[in-house]
Amino acid sequence: MALAPHLVFVPSAGMGHLLPFSRFITALANTGAVDISVVTALPTVSAAEAEHFDGLFAAFPAIRRIDFNLLPFNESAFSGADPFFLQWESLRRSAHLLGPMIASATPRASAVITDVTLASQVIPIAKDELHLPCHVLFISCATMLSFLAYFPTYLDGAEADHLAGDVDVPGIGLIPVDYPPAVLCNPESLFTKQFIANGRLIAEADGILVNTFDALEPDALAALRSGKVVPGFPPVFAVGPLMSSTTGSDKGVVRTSSPIAWLDAQPARSVVYVAFGNRNAVVPDQIREIGAGLEASGCRFLWVVKTTVVDREDNAELKDVLGDGFLGRVQGRGLVTKEWVDQEAVLKHPAIGLYLSHCGWNSVTESAAYGVSMLAWPALGDQRLIATVIRSGGFGLWMEHWSWDGENVVSGVEIGEKVKELMGDEAISARAAKVREEATKAVAHGGTSYRNMQEFLATLKAST
Ligand code: UDP
Ligand code: UDP
Repeated sequence: MALAPHLVFVPSAGMGHLLPFSRFITALANTGAVDISVVTALPTVSAAEAEHFDGLFAAFPAIRRIDFNLLPFNESAFSGADPFFLQWESLRRSAHLLGPMIASATPRASAVITDVTLASQVIPIAKDELHLPCHVLFISCATMLSFLAYFPTYLDGAEADHLAGDVDVPGIGLIPVDYPPAVLCNPESLFTKQFIANGRLIAEADGILVNTFDALEPDALAALRSGKVVPGFPPVFAVGPLMSSTTGSDKGVVRTSSPIAWLDAQPARSVVYVAFGNRNAVVPDQIREIGAGLEASGCRFLWVVKTTVVDREDNAELKDVLGDGFLGRVQGRGLVTKEWVDQEAVLKHPAIGLYLSHCGWNSVTESAAYGVSMLAWPALGDQRLIATVIRSGGFGLWMEHWSWDGENVVSGVEIGEKVKELMGDEAISARAAKVREEATKAVAHGGTSYRNMQEFLATLKAST
């Protein structure tokens, strides 16, 4: 009997990267058709990541854990850099240790699957050193993948003033330079250097798995697959939306104060869910205005507040952050928490009617999968580009002039009005329900994502 392929996963840092990896890994583990090892970079940046790894390995004892102790790295040259970008750099600088680790895995590794942030380091190790196929699981949207893949070509062809103006991605159209601002604002920044290196090497991967589905991003997927974005681009498997396995593997991070019991007591579609991802700290003035807006909207709400980028450093007291009397005034109709919530369970809950979101791609795919309308308030990185996907999908409204820069605080009056308006917008909720149907169909037996997953498995077997 042929051996099952043994896949070695090399994920990156940040819950926005780890969660889709775990969802994909557990979906594969549940097929019983593959052996799996997961390289676990230590120490993690956040407590959520550490708890998440523990939960994953406890729920799936057959998945092997390969501890990867990162080499000491002098961060002083990058003072002020984002702690997650620093962790990516640390992983990249320790990547040469991966070759011997993967070579000694038993049974013999048959393929490596890594994250885009590590692509330019891990692809050559897998392919040239270990002679193994290497795939990338891309955790953002296909539109962002097109931008990343095309960006090096754009830079090579551009004139000296190339950093001004929009980027015309073939088959996709114009992407304004301020959509992924981190990329273009400073070519010397850590992020930009990583982004360009990874963009150059990603075309060397054997396949790219993307957490999207064909009906959500048909144009971007068609452009990538036809070679319009980059000629000869590897096969693109749209396998999303990736969700938790029913065996509950990625529930390891759920802490005690679950808001689900509270949601159970609220009427259907009456609650606005407000959350800005695992690492977007909101400045105090803006937090107060969000509070004022939610109060003024008259709607019920569940609000996850974060005041620091890294959860371990968030020691602020809610009552201080929210201001005098806020929690008392909204008691009964508003629940505010600083804890990690099981967001997927929240978005799935019938009481949720709207998601006011920073537009992290996982959050958007979760909202799409459960048919929740979105009020898009993108902040950093790929989030403005992602907001264009929500807009073209019709399941949300993007407040394009709302910023997060701390100086142009969005007023509570405006937030309250938009929340109220969207809670009553039947056209957008009908479209969100339709997107949910399309997402469900994509992953069901015979759907596009289902078939892409089967094709990917066949590719793996063929190369084992
Ligand atoms: N990214 C990329 N290439 C890189 C590094 C990052 O395409 O070399 C993407 C990454 O997948 C994500 C975005 O750029 O979509 C980074 O976004 P952000 O700054 O919001 O960080 P994140 O929340 O993903 O950690
Ligand atoms: N998440 C969660 N509970 C929280 C905060 C975040 O379950 O309290 C999950 C969320 O459901 C999503 C991921 O963490 O799957 C965050 O990824 P996303 O791409 O949405 O945004 P990022 O945090 O990377 O900016």
